[in-house]
Amino acid sequence: MSTELRSRAWVEVDEAALHGNLLRVRDASGPDCRMLPVVKADAYGLGVARTVAALESAEPWGYGVATVTEGVQLRELGVTRTVLVLTPAPSAMVPRAVSAGLTLSVSSIEAMRRIAREAEASGCDAAIHVEVDTGMGRAGFDWRRASEWGRAVAELTKERVRWEGVFTHFHSADDAESRSVELQGRRFRDAVDLLPRPETGERILHLCNSAGIFRRPELAADLVRPGIFLYGGRAGGGLPTPDTVVSVRARVVLVRDVPMGTSLGYGATYRATRPERWATLGIGYGDGIPRALGNRGHVVMGGRRLPIVGRISMDLTVVDITDAPGAGVDQIATLIGVDDGAGISLEEVSEKAGTNSYEILTGLGRRLPRVWVNDRHSHEQR
Ligand SMILES: *Cc1c(COP(=O)(O)O)cnc(C)c1O
Repeated sequence: MSTELRSRAWVEVDEAALHGNLLRVRDASGPDCRMLPVVKADAYGLGVARTVAALESAEPWGYGVATVTEGVQLRELGVTRTVLVLTPAPSAMVPRAVSAGLTLSVSSIEAMRRIAREAEASGCDAAIHVEVDTGMGRAGFDWRRASEWGRAVAELTKERVRWEGVFTHFHSADDAESRSVELQGRRFRDAVDLLPRPETGERILHLCNSAGIFRRPELAADLVRPGIFLYGGRAGGGLPTPDTVVSVRARVVLVRDVPMGTSLGYGATYRATRPERWATLGIGYGDGIPRALGNRGHVVMGGRRLPIVGRISMDLTVVDITDAPGAGVDQIATLIGVDDGAGISLEEVSEKAGTNSYEILTGLGRRLPRVWVNDRHSHEQR
C-alpha cells in the first residue's frame, strides 16, 4: 500500500465488511429477491468505481443511481446491468439517458411522453419504472389516482418503451415507532391493483430501502434498494447494526506541551486547564469532519478515546493527549470507525453533528484518498 495515500488523512474502506453487509441484506430479503444496490453520490462517498467492482462479485440485478450523469458514469465503467435512475430526470437529460440504456423512473405523464418521444426519435428501446407517491411527497404519481395515470402510462409504453417496474419509497422506515411503513405498503398495493395488467410477463414491484428491508422483510417484494446499510450506516432504531465499512483516519502532524491557560484555535474557545500535551491532526472540516465536533467530539488513538479540543479548522484538528503520554507524531488517530477494538461510530459523530450518517458519509472530502482494505486486521500492520 502506497505510504503517500496514508501520509496525512484518508478514508479506509473495508471491502470484507461491505460484502458481509450485502449478504445480510440478501439473507433478510430472501434468495429470490432482486438486489439493486444504491450507489448514488459516489456510492455514499466511498468511491463508485471501486464500490461497484466490489459489489459485482455478488451479481446484483442492477444498480440504483440518483442522476443520469451517475448512470452514464456506470456505463463508462463497463457496467452492463440495469441502471435505474431513482430521481425524476430533467428533460434535457432524457436523450443521454436513453442512448446510454439507463432505466428511468417516471413520476409524470409529461416525463413519460418525453421518454417515449426520445425513444421513437432515436430508435433506441427504453425501459421505465413508475414511481408511486404513497406519502413521501417529493416524486411519484399520486397513489389515489392510479387508474387515471396507469392507463396513460400503459398507452405510452406500447411502442419502444417497456414498463418494467413500479416502486414507492418509505418516508419513516428508520423510525421504530412509526406505523407508516404498513400504511405506505397498503397504499402501494392498492395503486398497483388499479394498474392495467402488462401484456406479457410481470412488472417488478419494489418498496424497500435499507430500513424497510429489516423493518418489514415481507415487503421486500421483487427487488430491494439497499444503500446506507451496505456502507455501514445503521438503517434505524431497533434494526441490526451493520459491520463498520468506513473508517476516517488522520496522522498526528505535531505534538506540543503547553502551559496551563494556553489558548487554542479560532475564537480561542479552549484554554489548557492544566499543563497539557496537544496533538495536531492533519484533518479538518475541509475534509468533511463536522465543525460541530469542536470541543465535543473524540478520536481514538491506540485504543483510547481522546477529546477534540478547540474549534476544528479547515485543515487541522487538535486533540488533548495529556492522558496518553505515549502518543507521538505520525501516530494514527481514528475520527470515525474502528481501531483496535475501540471505535467511534458513524452514529456518534452524526448525532453530535446534528445530522445523519448519510450526510457524514457523502460529505467526506475529495481531499481524503479512499484506501480499500480487504480484512479488518490489515490496518494493524501499518
Ligand atoms: C437513496 C435511496 C435508496 C437507498 O436508501 P437507504 O436508506 O440508503 O438504504 C433507496 N431508494 C431510493 C428511491 C433512494 O432514493
